[in-house]
Amino acid sequence: MLDLAIKGGTVVTPWGSGLWDVGIIGEKIVNVSLPGSINEESHRILDASGKIVVPGGIEPHAHISAPIMGHDERTAPPEDVSRASIFGGTTSILDFAIQYPGISIEQALAERHQEWTGKSYADYSHHLMLLGEIPDRIMGGLHEFIEEGFATVKIFTTNIRPPEMAGEPRMVKMGHLHDLMETIHRTGAMLMVHSEDDDMVQHMYEKLARNENTEWWNMHLVHSNESEDVSFRRVIRVSEWTGSPVYFVHVSANEGLLAVREARSKGMPIYGETLHNYCCFNADNYKEEFGMKYHTYPSLKSESDRQSLWRGLVDYGLSTVATDEYCTNWNLKIEGKKVSDVTGGHNGIETRMGVTYSEGVSRQKMSLERFVEVTSSNAAKIMGMYPQKGVIAPGSDADIVLIDPSFDKNLEMSDFHISDYSIWEGFHAQGWPVTTILRGTIVVEDRKLVDDRKLGRLVKRKIASTVLNRPVC
Ligand SMILES: [Zn+2]
Repeated sequence: MLDLAIKGGTVVTPWGSGLWDVGIIGEKIVNVSLPGSINEESHRILDASGKIVVPGGIEPHAHISAPIMGHDERTAPPEDVSRASIFGGTTSILDFAIQYPGISIEQALAERHQEWTGKSYADYSHHLMLLGEIPDRIMGGLHEFIEEGFATVKIFTTNIRPPEMAGEPRMVKMGHLHDLMETIHRTGAMLMVHSEDDDMVQHMYEKLARNENTEWWNMHLVHSNESEDVSFRRVIRVSEWTGSPVYFVHVSANEGLLAVREARSKGMPIYGETLHNYCCFNADNYKEEFGMKYHTYPSLKSESDRQSLWRGLVDYGLSTVATDEYCTNWNLKIEGKKVSDVTGGHNGIETRMGVTYSEGVSRQKMSLERFVEVTSSNAAKIMGMYPQKGVIAPGSDADIVLIDPSFDKNLEMSDFHISDYSIWEGFHAQGWPVTTILRGTIVVEDRKLVDDRKLGRLVKRKIASTVLNRPVC
């Protein structure tokens, strides 16, 4: 006896897409087969006729209940973000356990458990984030947490903001980076890098200040294409020396994409992520009234960069589309008006799947299989959740989303379930997630929340050695 059967939809699997039925018992998928071939009875049959059936989305990059630089407030908490997330078809969320100076990784993880346990509508896990100079005792103990299931470590090669605005130093210098990469390589982890050249970034903050040219719409001059180019290539060189795999978060420029592609063509385990707001807006949008609302660090770039990022997602070169979720309210988002003090980040977790489908599949001929790769299965592989997550196959968690390809409208505020503004208001949606299943339980059905229990659980992760040794996805 099945608990749930999904019938009549176009099911997307790594082996192609077809009109198949999906059987679920408990939390797991038990079969994917031709229509009519599931003879077992089922407690519940979900009619997916006309719908696209895909694995639940995986958001690899979110800042949830995180201190906001320069403010006492925090970004939106797990309850709010994960609720918006399941409305948008994303069933797994990865945020950050930040090892601030003076605390241990254990304390950072304990703080996350406190924030998340029993409060999430989606499954979740935490990347470890290290800031600034990495003390020997932290570096020496890293392997314990990686072995425990937190297999990803994020660092920055820049302080992002000028010194008076930056808060605690973030930048990991090249010597430390070398040592960290050796550790990453040895312990079977994945290194996530926010990669910009800090000298160039700080130089431009100072230069724009001297020239009294500090309005927010100059952000792409500070966080420039050249800085991304130079920094990506330095990090890739150290990866060649140490063997460490690297996942570049928020690739924003054609130069970053080219550096990733070149390294991958040599067989290096280098992966690139981009953001859906980088794919849909460019630095000209900064010039709109309140155009700082589009900003996510590093920055929006030119129209040709924007188009390159789509080529990277649709064709080859980029592996994932993320959000850099950093949800604030409107007043806080527009408070900073200078390059030195704008608030980065984006409340996009709900729109990530739908925007990628609308723009990618409906308008740019992205295949359904590629859509699943960039929104779910690649993140599952790179972050160590595959094949538990990221694939519709027997034995995998029944995290499944139904997309209605006939959904066609310009989005309004009433379509969103988080914050008091959205940069996606007015976006022309062509295809949108309508029903979301988390580990066998229907949580959103026909765009309505039908299960309020907050069933989300921590996912422990281990990355396959193939992913760590060559560019497999
Ligand atoms: Zn981020």
